[in-house]
Amino acid sequence: MTMIYLDHNATTPPADAVRAAMLSALSDCWANASSQHGPGQNARRAMGAARGAVARALGCKPAEIIFTSGATESNHLAVRGLLAAAAAGRGRVVFSSVEHAGHLRLARALRKQGVPVDLIAVRADGTLDVDAAVALMGPDLALISLMAANNETGALMPVAQVAALAHAAGALLHVDATQFIGKQPFSFAHFGADAVSLSAHKIHGPKGVGALLLRQGIALEPQIMGSQERGRRGGTENLAGIAGLAAALDLLGGADGIAAEAARLGTLRDALERGLARALPDAVHVWAQNAPRLPGTSYLRFGCLSADVVLNRLERLGVAASTGAACASGSSAPSHVLDAMGVPPQEALAAVRFSLGRGTTAQDVQYLLDALPPLLAPLLDEEAQAARQRQTAAAIA
Ligand code: PMP
Repeated sequence: MTMIYLDHNATTPPADAVRAAMLSALSDCWANASSQHGPGQNARRAMGAARGAVARALGCKPAEIIFTSGATESNHLAVRGLLAAAAAGRGRVVFSSVEHAGHLRLARALRKQGVPVDLIAVRADGTLDVDAAVALMGPDLALISLMAANNETGALMPVAQVAALAHAAGALLHVDATQFIGKQPFSFAHFGADAVSLSAHKIHGPKGVGALLLRQGIALEPQIMGSQERGRRGGTENLAGIAGLAAALDLLGGADGIAAEAARLGTLRDALERGLARALPDAVHVWAQNAPRLPGTSYLRFGCLSADVVLNRLERLGVAASTGAACASGSSAPSHVLDAMGVPPQEALAAVRFSLGRGTTAQDVQYLLDALPPLLAPLLDEEAQAARQRQTAAAIA
């Protein structure tokens, strides 16, 4: 049975061209790019070429790129690095309440260290409550850290609006664009943020490499000391990873390629949601369905069937999906994103995420629509019957 992979928000398979670019870097450019000898110069040239390609694909200047080990590190570097370099009297940081779990751990660690941290609430549809953001502005604010698109719901956040708010307050905006880049057209020059995190493995690149884009002229305290990346991130460069990231960005095909793929995925995602709702009437609830959201993400529940039960049935069908964030799955705690949206725990524990991507076909969606509802319908009937029995018992008591 070939597997149908519907977990592209967790990670994506490296593309052939990415593997080729990495192998070539590993075999031909293995020297240290800081070395003076010929092989070192060769590696340095390859680094320059990759940096130029990344800059072209992301609409930034080569000097605005700091290569890192991925989005988690980029997020940490942005928040800790910008905070440490902020003017005296600007010591407060604002995050959204639905940031990636790793990033919210950083928020908690900062609080523990005595840094004032506030969280911006989200609405029931998963989008940012902009009025709540307005209320958190102030002269003590150093920066806002906000994701561009949520990894669980796919909800898109109003980056330009929040950038205007931050800048009017004299603060900076860092955006975690890990789920956004590659799925929506992006140009750093026009995005509005001062710093942007991204990760290669969400766009068919390798794991363990990403970047922080930092607008020229903005001060940042390095968090890993060393001479590389203009002193902003030490450590011998991961040239193979960086070449892989450049190749992955190139494969997106620019704004036109991204827009075309987004339209294709939007059609498939809508067909999936409509088909499931038709096959299992009244049982399917999709979160953020009417919010602006990523085209390939569908975050839903089937009645209150436990997500583990649904994932088990999907596994039997050869379909890989997830309960939400891969890093949080395995834990049976309800998603912090759904909690922030006001979803009760028994509904949140039923959350299943399908994230479609480049490999997803109309046949895959049709297979799921044909195979999954017959497996879930009897379980939903049992659930409804149990609910009726509970109601009857309550009425008698
Ligand atoms: N931010 C978001 C929104 C993500 O989805 C992820 C990956 N799940 C990360 C950060 C972490 O990225 P990385 O694995 O590159 O550290």
